[in-house]
Amino acid sequence: MSINQTKSKPLNNTVLVTGAAGFIGSAVARHLLKAHDDTVVNVDCLTYAGNQATIADQLGDPRYVFEQVDIRDREAVADLFDTYQPRAIMHLAAESHVDRSIDGPRDFIDTNIIGTYNLLEAARAYYLNLDDDDKARFRFHHVSTDEVFGSLGDEGLFTETSPYEPSSPYSASKAASDHLVRAWFETYGLPVVLSNCSNNYGPYQYPEKLIPVIISKILKNESIPVYGSGMNVRDWLYVDDHARALVLIMNTGKPGRSYNVGGNEERNNLEVVAAVCGILDELRPAADGRPYVELIEHVSDRPGHDHRYAIDATRIKEELGWEPRETFASGMFKTVEWYLANQAWVNTVLEGSYDGGRLGTATEKAS
Ligand code: NAD
Repeated sequence: MSINQTKSKPLNNTVLVTGAAGFIGSAVARHLLKAHDDTVVNVDCLTYAGNQATIADQLGDPRYVFEQVDIRDREAVADLFDTYQPRAIMHLAAESHVDRSIDGPRDFIDTNIIGTYNLLEAARAYYLNLDDDDKARFRFHHVSTDEVFGSLGDEGLFTETSPYEPSSPYSASKAASDHLVRAWFETYGLPVVLSNCSNNYGPYQYPEKLIPVIISKILKNESIPVYGSGMNVRDWLYVDDHARALVLIMNTGKPGRSYNVGGNEERNNLEVVAAVCGILDELRPAADGRPYVELIEHVSDRPGHDHRYAIDATRIKEELGWEPRETFASGMFKTVEWYLANQAWVNTVLEGSYDGGRLGTATEKAS
C-alpha cells in the first residue's frame, strides 16, 4: 500500500471512491471536492486504465488522498475501512471494456466479482462496529451499467425492474456484482444503493473507447472503424452529469434501492461518429477540405453485440430531482474540445499500453 499524500486523521466526512484514477471515478472525485466538503480517498491499483495523470489536478488538495490498493487484496481493502472510517464508499473500480472482456474474461471475474465481494465483506465488518448514528449514515454505493439488462429491440426502455440478461463477459461480471450487493442488503442489512447508467462520454476517457478512438483516428487521418452496420443504439450521458447523479444517489438514495441513470439521448453508432466528425470538421478541418465522415470504414461486428440500450430515468428524476444538464450536442462539443486541448494526456495514458488496434474479436485462446 502506498500513499502519495499525508494521511489525515479519520474524518467523519470521508468517502472512499474506488477507481478514481479512471474515467468516471475521477469525475466523481472532482465533483465531491468541488461541490461538497468530503475528504476523498481514491482507492485504485492503477491498471492500464487508471493513471496519475487523470487525477493530477487534485494532488494539491488537502482533502484528497490516494491509496494504491488492489481491491482483489482482501486484507488491504479491510485496512482502508479501519484507517479512514468513511461515511460511505462509492465503488467504481472495475475492468470496464467489453472488447477486452471478450479477449480475456479472467480479470473481469477477479476484479468485478471477487473485488466487489471483498469490499462488501470489509464494509460489513466495519458497519457492524459503528454506533447507531454512524450506521444510519453509512452507505455502500455500487456503480453499475445498463448493460446488465441485455439488449432491447427497437422499442422499450430499461427500468429498475427490467430482468437481468447480460450478453458479454463484462456485463455478466457487473450483473454478478449487482446481485452480490443486493444480497448483502437483503441478508446482512448492509445499507447499499445501486445505480445502472448508460454510455458515458467526456474528458479523461481512456482512448480505447468509442468517442476518443474516433477523435484519435481523425487526428491521425486514419480510417474510423465502425463495428458491423453501425446501427447499434446507445443512450449517451456526459460524464459530469453522471458524477452529479452518483453523489446524489449516495447522499439521498434509499437503502436497498437502485436507480437508472441516462441522458435520454439515443444515437446509433453511425450518428455518434458523424457528430464527432462534424465537430472536428468545424474545429480542425482536414487539410484537403474533405469531410471526416469519409474516413468511416465498416469492420466485422463485435461478437454478441447488443442491438440497443435505452434508459428510463424517471425514478432518479422524480425521487431525487436529478436531470442531465448537457445535451448530446453540448456535451460532445465540450468533449471534442477537451481532447484537442489535451493530447498530452492522451499520449501519457497510452504509453506502452494500447496501440489503437482492434480488440474483442473473440479470436484469442481461452484464458
Ligand atoms: P475505467 O476503466 O476508466 O476506470 C476503472 C478504474 O478502476 C481504473 O482507474 C483502474 O485502475 C481501476 N481498477 C481496475 N481494477 C482495479 C482493481 N482490481 N483494484 C483497484 N482499482 C482497479 O472505467 P470507467 O469507465 O470510469 O467506469 C467506472 C465504473 O462505472 C465501472 O464500474 C463501470 O462498470 C461503470 N460504468 C461505466 C460506464 C461507461 O460508459 N464508461 C457506464 C456505466 C457504468
